[in-house]
Amino acid sequence: MDLGIAGKRALVCASSKGLGRGCAEALAEAGVNLVMNARGAEALEATAQHIRDTYGVSVETVACDVTTEEGRAQLLDVAGEVDILVNNAGGPPPGMWTDWDRDDFIKALDANMLTPIALIKALVPGMQKRGWGRVVNITSQSVKSPIAVLGLSNSARAGLTGYVAGTSRQVCGDGVIINNLLPGLHDTDRANSLDTGAAAAQGITKEEARANREATIPAGRYGTPREFGATCAFMCSQYAGFMVGQNVLLDGGAYNSTM
Ligand code: NAP
Repeated sequence: MDLGIAGKRALVCASSKGLGRGCAEALAEAGVNLVMNARGAEALEATAQHIRDTYGVSVETVACDVTTEEGRAQLLDVAGEVDILVNNAGGPPPGMWTDWDRDDFIKALDANMLTPIALIKALVPGMQKRGWGRVVNITSQSVKSPIAVLGLSNSARAGLTGYVAGTSRQVCGDGVIINNLLPGLHDTDRANSLDTGAAAAQGITKEEARANREATIPAGRYGTPREFGATCAFMCSQYAGFMVGQNVLLDGGAYNSTM
């Protein structure tokens, strides 16, 4: 399927690995030129070179922390006018609701709510002027079904979801489409480290911890970054023009509901 976005320019945040990388690769496969970002320069450059070699698109890299004001300024400076924005960053740490204080919440809100909002505010006006744009925010299944130990994530991502629900309806008339993509369990470094943590806590092997988590998913397995990226690319395509302010859940059926 031709997604109709060859030659467009995308900023994909937090994309040297995992789900962000999956999105960058799928957009590159559709012919989109990229600005990629992560904090670690080495992995970022290696992924960028792989994408240049594999898909023949142009890839610029900015090694910085997207959750800081300085990082975003660097990123926006290189990105310039982009047609597509994929918002992503690492998730807040797990913990107990009794332990989180104001500073913990401010940090989580900064990273997973105010950072994507700042990038939307910086880039969407240009998209509106040019009459075309796509924004996909990588959030989490926890927006629909809370994960108790990830209360900081639940809170920050719910805030972003509320913002997108209203804002997406204010800009779609100008051809700018904003949606959220909600990962359930996917096979990435993050999932791997959660398996390692669960194994240590329960005194079992990492493979057993993974099998236990896979058993909670009707599909019986973790999702892949490639599947995730392909869905993201579709949400950035010409065909997503009537999909406004949606929360697309990719979780192998883990969230049990009729709708
Ligand atoms: P991952 O495999 O750990 O990859 C994270 C990527 O983001 C890396 O490229 C990392 O590179 C970059 N990154 C992290 N923090 C950054 C920052 N502050 N600034 C710039 N780049 C940053 O994680 P993932 O599994 O793809 O998860 C991506 C997002 O989806 C996270 O918010 C996670 O909470 C959420 N999520 C994931 C799952 C899952 O099963 N994988 C499920 C639900 C939600 P550097 O470390 O070099 O910066």
